[in-house]
Amino acid sequence: MQVGTVIKSVNYALGNLNQWMSSKKAKLPIVAFPSTAELVPEPLGLVLIISSWNFPLGLSLEPLIGAISAGNVAVLKPSELAPACSSVLAGNIHTYLDNKAVKVIQGGASVSEQLLQHKWDKIFFTGSAQVGRIVMSAAAKHLTPVTLELGGKCPAVVDSLASSWDREAAIKRILGGKFGACAGQACIAIDYILAEKTYTSTLVEQLKVATKKMFGENPKESYSVARIVNKRHFLRLKNYLDEPMVRASIVYGGSFDEDNLFIEPTILVDPPPTSAIMTEEIFGPLLPVITLSKIEDSIQFIKSRPKALTIYAFTNNETFKKRVISETSSGSVTFNDAVIQYAADTIPFGGTGESGFGKYHGKFSFDNFTHEKAVLSRSFLTDFWFRYPPWNDHKLQLFKSIYRFDYLGILLTMLGFNKS
Ligand code: NAD
Repeated sequence: MQVGTVIKSVNYALGNLNQWMSSKKAKLPIVAFPSTAELVPEPLGLVLIISSWNFPLGLSLEPLIGAISAGNVAVLKPSELAPACSSVLAGNIHTYLDNKAVKVIQGGASVSEQLLQHKWDKIFFTGSAQVGRIVMSAAAKHLTPVTLELGGKCPAVVDSLASSWDREAAIKRILGGKFGACAGQACIAIDYILAEKTYTSTLVEQLKVATKKMFGENPKESYSVARIVNKRHFLRLKNYLDEPMVRASIVYGGSFDEDNLFIEPTILVDPPPTSAIMTEEIFGPLLPVITLSKIEDSIQFIKSRPKALTIYAFTNNETFKKRVISETSSGSVTFNDAVIQYAADTIPFGGTGESGFGKYHGKFSFDNFTHEKAVLSRSFLTDFWFRYPPWNDHKLQLFKSIYRFDYLGILLTMLGFNKS
């Protein structure tokens, strides 16, 4: 899936690059007449890309496409937590790309920290908010611009859809966007569900049935259940479930196998709001369903928490959709599906607030690694005398008229009449 998405993005960039690279004409105010202006894209220079482990090829190569298509040279530091992919990138990129333009440096936090001590023209970071803060502090020393692609808790508001067809599709998309997305170890995986109390029990029953259908009676044997990346993250997730009040809220799953780093796709109903599972990013196959008095309460629930990378809402209620768009803030909003927004080249991908800043994919990737230089070319044909000192009321009056596009005022002032 990652490879296919990257190939699609490369082809999209190749097909559009000529247009992206071309200068864009800009309009100028009348005081600059006659002259021309354009925006000329230029590369930022030397960029550092630090990526996370969970989609190790995609999250390394997608930003690299933007960096090199915009004409930069790049150093890529993939995650040490996906060592096989990191070594594939290090072992192959130099064969296919200009070795003077792209280098891969492997290693963990200490290598990253050393790289961050150098001066870069741009740092593109994908990972946790905690490390994002370290990256931003290091960049500040050199006034280096950064893009932070972070995570957080992506809510999914699930309305009681009227038709059974819609409901069935929604359930599959929710589970695909949670357990199917690397066992929930994805920044845009659904973190938790918000549903109205009149609908929760029906929804939970449907989720249970569909989960069993997708992953079988014994999900440990299923080829479709990804493992947790390492012991540290396994124990982090297990600790969430070990809180007694959280364990009591499990309605499906809940089993695990430490030797195999396996955690069963697990559904919980109303774990305590102050428990770690509801305050930290889950990033694993645990799916809390939170009951609200009415679906509209989800807006306040979401607004009272840090801004998410994506808000999902499964609903056919157009008024409610408009409220989600206008009353909440997040990197993106996706209605009636999950995760699919990542594959689009025509819409930006990125967060806001705690979920990061800066955007990429398609043309947005090119722009992310580009400085748009303003170029203004003035002719010597005319020169307005009122632009220069000594200043007087007459000249001031002319400027005021010009900036108001008040052509009569300009004429009258030029003729010596003071309009004011
Ligand atoms: P992480 O922050 O632990 O690591 C990310 C990168 O930072 C790795 O390359 C790592 O080597 C490096 N790093 C670790 N410690 C560092 C330090 N002290 N100084 C400098 N660099 C350091 O994140 P992760 O575990 O790889 O990924 C999980 C997180 O990333 C989750 O929060 C997830 O939501 C987020 N994420 C976001 C996106 C997105 O596109 N917005 C995509 C994937 C993952």
